[in-house]
Amino acid sequence: MAYSQITDPVATEVWEPVPRKVTSPADQFLPSDAIILFDGKDMSAWKSTKTADAAAWTIADDAMTVKPGTGNIETKENFGSIQLHIEWRSPVVVESEGQGRGNSGVFFQKRYEVQVLDNYNNKTYPNGQAGAVYKQYIPLVNACRPPGEWQAYDIVFMAPEFNADGIRTRPGYLTVFHNGVLIQNHVEVQGTTEYIGLPKNIAHGKAPIMLQDHSNLVSYRNIWVREL
Ligand code: MG
Repeated sequence: MAYSQITDPVATEVWEPVPRKVTSPADQFLPSDAIILFDGKDMSAWKSTKTADAAAWTIADDAMTVKPGTGNIETKENFGSIQLHIEWRSPVVVESEGQGRGNSGVFFQKRYEVQVLDNYNNKTYPNGQAGAVYKQYIPLVNACRPPGEWQAYDIVFMAPEFNADGIRTRPGYLTVFHNGVLIQNHVEVQGTTEYIGLPKNIAHGKAPIMLQDHSNLVSYRNIWVREL
């Protein structure tokens, strides 16, 4: 159809579906349909990754902090595609350097890490700095605040899809805002974010969000998701 054949504005109006209402009060950025994963006190949405036990990280001052050696923690619930809000803080006392300074990480489906690291004044390989899709995508800019200050990630994760033969039919995607600044713009996740070696794409379904114990006293608070 040629553009000029449509003369009625009504012909291009779409009336269904009507988006359902989600409220998000101005004084508290928490959408009404969000699932709260951590409110500052209650860690019941989380468990240890190593064992069947409860998460053993430290809760104090409306935050939870890595307890080195207790291991990663993960949500009891499995998730597919989500919008995630998570706030994190590097230790005030600056220790070590590179990957050893304020290292943690947010793993989607226990496989795909958005790096948490104190890169305020800390050089490391850029595809492993804060906000990197670990060893896959360098963040567009460095939006890090100083250690000891709270920072936020707002992340859209689109889960990869696999067919019955285990072939990936759609890659995953990540979009990341760091303190409100766009640092990953709909990047195609290449596969698992490996410390050593290349990304892997082995079929899986919904899976937990995992937070990393990298032996540094990184804290988290105000964690919520919206399922997409
Ligand atoms: Mg990490």
